[in-house]
This record gives sequence, structure tokens and C-alpha cells, in this order.
Amino acid sequence: RAKQAGKAQFARYSAELQTSARHQLELESALGQALDRDQFVLHYQPIYRIDQDRPQLVGVEALLRWRQDGALVPPQEFIASLEESGEILRVGDWVLAQACRQVRAWQLAGQARLRCSVNLSSRQLQQDDFVARLTEILRDSGLPPASLILEITESQLMQDCTATLITLRELASLGVRLALDDFGTGYSSLGYLKRFPLHILKVDRSFIDGAPQDAELGAISRAIIGLGHSLGLEVVAEGVEQAAHLDFLRQEGCRLAQGYWFSRPRAASELERLFSPALSPAEPHDRPAQARP
Ligand code: C2E
Ligand code: MG
Ligand code: MG
Ligand code: MG
Repeated sequence: RAKQAGKAQFARYSAELQTSARHQLELESALGQALDRDQFVLHYQPIYRIDQDRPQLVGVEALLRWRQDGALVPPQEFIASLEESGEILRVGDWVLAQACRQVRAWQLAGQARLRCSVNLSSRQLQQDDFVARLTEILRDSGLPPASLILEITESQLMQDCTATLITLRELASLGVRLALDDFGTGYSSLGYLKRFPLHILKVDRSFIDGAPQDAELGAISRAIIGLGHSLGLEVVAEGVEQAAHLDFLRQEGCRLAQGYWFSRPRAASELERLFSPALSPAEPHDRPAQARP
């Protein structure tokens, strides 16, 4: 009887496996066609300077969405599959080209200093010709390399160190900026901060979220902000959802932030509404002194 029960359990188990394997296959085949069917869209989340009274929009992070049957599927549900199948290379090129073109258009429409952040997969960085492809994408879009920020995670730095290091150095010498994303959540070795040519540290939202109430999370956030600044890096706080988060960050001297408190990621046309006050002639410091109100 035990044997029979075991058999039944095995049958159930293998049926479940088959279902999930089938789902995986269906997902991969749908994803394989998504780019050609124009089903990917980028949303943009604004990044603000918070060291003045009035937060100032200084950049946007491009975040990928998959439009499927009217619904928008978030990246956690499909990025891993794209990486598995290798399709992330084609999709990643599309993301870069699309984001660079969009931000260049916004720059020309009056947001002259707007910066564009794009998330990278380790598969993209491992391509031998990544730097050449990116150079071409930048040239086609007209976006100045210094306006582009590539976001990578700690785990990406751990893979294939020497090749990654060479690629990152080439990117940095193009003038592109590099951000370490979700800092503090991976197997961080602080040595990476010295070894890799990084410009920006993004403090993971798990620290920011608890920082105002929880003394230990507050201490960790404070330490990360201080570490970044003393290494000459810009520090961006992720996941600012409440006024208390913003107060804490200002108190700790963190100058850049993004999060739902300011805005969720939005479609390009909706993001433009956030520009409207700044669209009139130019940023205050670009204006001749006597013309200032
Ligand atoms: P990430 O790069 O750390 O992006 C920030 C994520 O936090 C985004 O989730 C954003 O919507 C979310 N977020 C922003 N502010 C808040 C907040 O105040 N509270 C909370 N709870 N969440 C907030 P999203 O868009 O779902 O993206 C998830 C991850 O998917 C990204 O994390 C990034 O690692 C990856 N990803 C997104 N787009 C791409 C892409 O084009 N290529 C690659 N390789 N990865 C991407
Ligand atoms: Mg990111
Ligand atoms: Mg992040
Ligand atoms: Mg994150």
C-alpha cells in the first residue's frame, strides 16, 4: 500500500512538473515573439535631487513591461526567462535604443540635463561586442554618453570578473556612468567599490523602508550613504514611499532619490506631465541673472 501511495504521489508530482514545464515552454515561446509583436514597453520612473526645498527631476530609470492581452506583466515574471533563452540580448538592445531615443527627445524638448538609467543583465555585459553595440546605439540616438547610466547588480560583478572589469572600464572611458543597483542586498564585497569604475551607489529600498523607525536599518542606511560619499560616489536612495523616508534622507545628506512618494514608473506620455513647470525656458541657473523673476 505504501508503494501504491508512493506511486500516486510520484504521478501527481510528475504531472505538476509537466504542467510547470509546459507553462515555462509556453512563456518562453510567447516571450520569443514579444519583441517582433511590439509587446514590450518602457515605463519611466523619475529620479529627484532632494537637497533643495523643491525636489528637482534630474533623471529617469527605464523599466521594462510586457504588454499581454491588455495587462502589463512586471519584469520579475519574465526577465529570468529572457535570460535563460538568450533573448535578453535582443530585448536588451531594444531597451537601450528605446530609452536613449526617448530621453534624447526629452532633452531636445527642454529637459537638457535629463539623465537616462537603464538596467543591464549580466548576459549583456558578457557579450564581446557590447561596447561596440552600445557606441552605435548612442550615436544613432544622439544621446551624449554622459547622460546614460547603466545599472548593474553586485551579483553581476561577481560573475566573470576580469572580462566584466575590462568591459566596465571601456564603458567608463566612453563617458557612460555606472551605477551599482540594490546595494547591500547581494554578496557585497566592499572591494568591488574600489575595483570597478563605479559612479553611483543605489541604496536598496529594504534599508530605506525601515530607516526612520528601525534604529539598525537607519544605521545601515546612514553607513551606506556615508560610504558612498566618502568614495566620491553619488548616492541614490530607492523606494522612497513616505515623507518620513525623505526627511531621513535629507537629514543624512543623501542628495538623490526615487520612489512612489514622488512617482510610480509611468508611460512616457504620462511622465512628460511632470516636466511641465521645468519646461518653461530653461533651468533657473541656465537663465541670465537679470531675467530671473
Ligand atoms: P530595479 O532596477 O531595482 O528597479 C526598481 C524597482 O522598484 C522597480 O520595479 C520599481 O517599480 C520599484 N519601485 C520604485 N519605487 C518604489 C517604491 O517606492 N516602493 C516599491 N515597493 N517599489 C518601488 P520593477 O519595474 O518591477 O522592476 C523590477 C526589477 O526588474 C528592476 O529592479 C530590475 O532589476 C529589473 N528590470 C526592469 N527593467 C529591466 C530591463 O530593461 N532589463 C533588465 N535586465 N532588468 C530590468
Ligand atoms: Mg535599477
Ligand atoms: Mg534597484
Ligand atoms: Mg531594487
